Amino acid sequence: MPQSGSELETPVRVRFAPSPTGYPHLGNIRTALFNWLFARRYGGKFILRIEDTDVARKVEGAVEMILDSLRWLELDWDESPYFQSQRLDIYREVADRLLNGNDAYLCYCSPERLEAMRQEQIKHKQPPKYDGRCRHLTQQQKTELRAQAITPVVRFRTPLDGETSFQDLIRGRVSFQNSTLDDFVLLKSDGYPTYHLANVVDDNLMAISHVLRADEWLSSTPRHMLIYQALNWDAPHFAHLPMILGPDRSKLSKRHGATNIMEYREQGYLPEAMINFLALLGWSLDDRTELLTRQELVRNFSLERISKTAAVFNKEKLEWMNGVYLRQLSPDEFVQRATPFLDRDLPLSIERPLHSDYVRQVMSLIQERAKTLAEVPRLCDFFFMDELQYEASLLLSRGLSSESAVEAVKTSLRRLEVTEVWDAESLEEMLRPLATELNLSTAKFFGLLRVAITGRSAAPPLFQTMAVLDRGKCLKRLTTALDRLSALTQAQNK
Ligand code: GLU
Repeated sequence: MPQSGSELETPVRVRFAPSPTGYPHLGNIRTALFNWLFARRYGGKFILRIEDTDVARKVEGAVEMILDSLRWLELDWDESPYFQSQRLDIYREVADRLLNGNDAYLCYCSPERLEAMRQEQIKHKQPPKYDGRCRHLTQQQKTELRAQAITPVVRFRTPLDGETSFQDLIRGRVSFQNSTLDDFVLLKSDGYPTYHLANVVDDNLMAISHVLRADEWLSSTPRHMLIYQALNWDAPHFAHLPMILGPDRSKLSKRHGATNIMEYREQGYLPEAMINFLALLGWSLDDRTELLTRQELVRNFSLERISKTAAVFNKEKLEWMNGVYLRQLSPDEFVQRATPFLDRDLPLSIERPLHSDYVRQVMSLIQERAKTLAEVPRLCDFFFMDELQYEASLLLSRGLSSESAVEAVKTSLRRLEVTEVWDAESLEEMLRPLATELNLSTAKFFGLLRVAITGRSAAPPLFQTMAVLDRGKCLKRLTTALDRLSALTQAQNK
């Protein structure tokens, strides 16, 4: 019975159904991506449904954040987002149907009683579970309770024995003893449905063919199956996606770095790298392929290749992948993507707007080296600054004496003042032999120049850097280095 391959017998309709109880994290978006890929692979529909029925846990701005994340990653949805909070009548009607069919009952237990019961169960090391008190109320008790003006909740009448099982497209047959499931709530006293009721009703009404969702919902699925059975509805196919663990094999959390997906944008990850990376958290094409474009993913995505075991989040891999995607951009594209980060993070003392030709030249030296766009300003700020801040002692690394350094900088200044052509090639032609003349290794000599010109010991290739910076700036920086060296020598001689 192929349910997950190309011979699907139903049109594919999948949904991403986040609850706006927090900002979307990697796991949520991985779920969205797998659903989106599955829909696109089989020419189906990808539906976005906001499950906002937990009023107390609603987080301000979460819906916008969810939509922004999906838009950033271009996970476009086919039907306007549904909001469960706007569909309350529908759930109430279904709850009534379940009540009328005796598959549900009204429960009048107070929150205090439920809490006391829970504490008692925890104390006796029993799993917390409703004790079924209102399941067997007599007609008279019901009448009395109704008279007390308590708003009841609606609970599902879970079979006391037997088991509920279903075929999971990833895990195979999954069974639960009904005795372990309690009479869960369907409709709360505030009139809002619980996740279980609203989720099942909407999956049915929205004709969802496949539910691809995180592993953590697996234990909810038998409850959902029971509701489907009670309503005489066909259940969709289920596929529970493997967990995502941190490198230390604990559940992925803040400790392992950014969890909110939009933080990755802030940190300068490209959406195309993010998509590639997320796709491989629990899915693979084969045992080797790491780099796949969005089109390749759509063409090849299948449930069969989703792994049963947990995926491990590897930040270094994400950085590496992002670097690959950054290098693949055309120079213009790179400039365009990096510019907002330069504007945001270059020191405020640098005048804006930045000169676009100059930015383009600088970026041509940075593109190869950046792993994220957020690194770009740090890698190139010295190109834009008037004054470089660095410790004078940095000029004397690799055991260079201050006398040799002073002589080397002075000679370089004299030669650079008169050199005719100012490009990387000519600069190299001139400066390489100068090292020999000065009796210095190129490592020492170029190291000294690099610090003088960039203020740091690691930077893009020296001669190209000097060429972009232009003669005026380079001479000025060498003069400043000379002053710093003199000050250092004086201080040492005191
Ligand atoms: N609202 C649930 C969530 O936040 C949906 C789970 C499901 O897909 O059924 O993830």
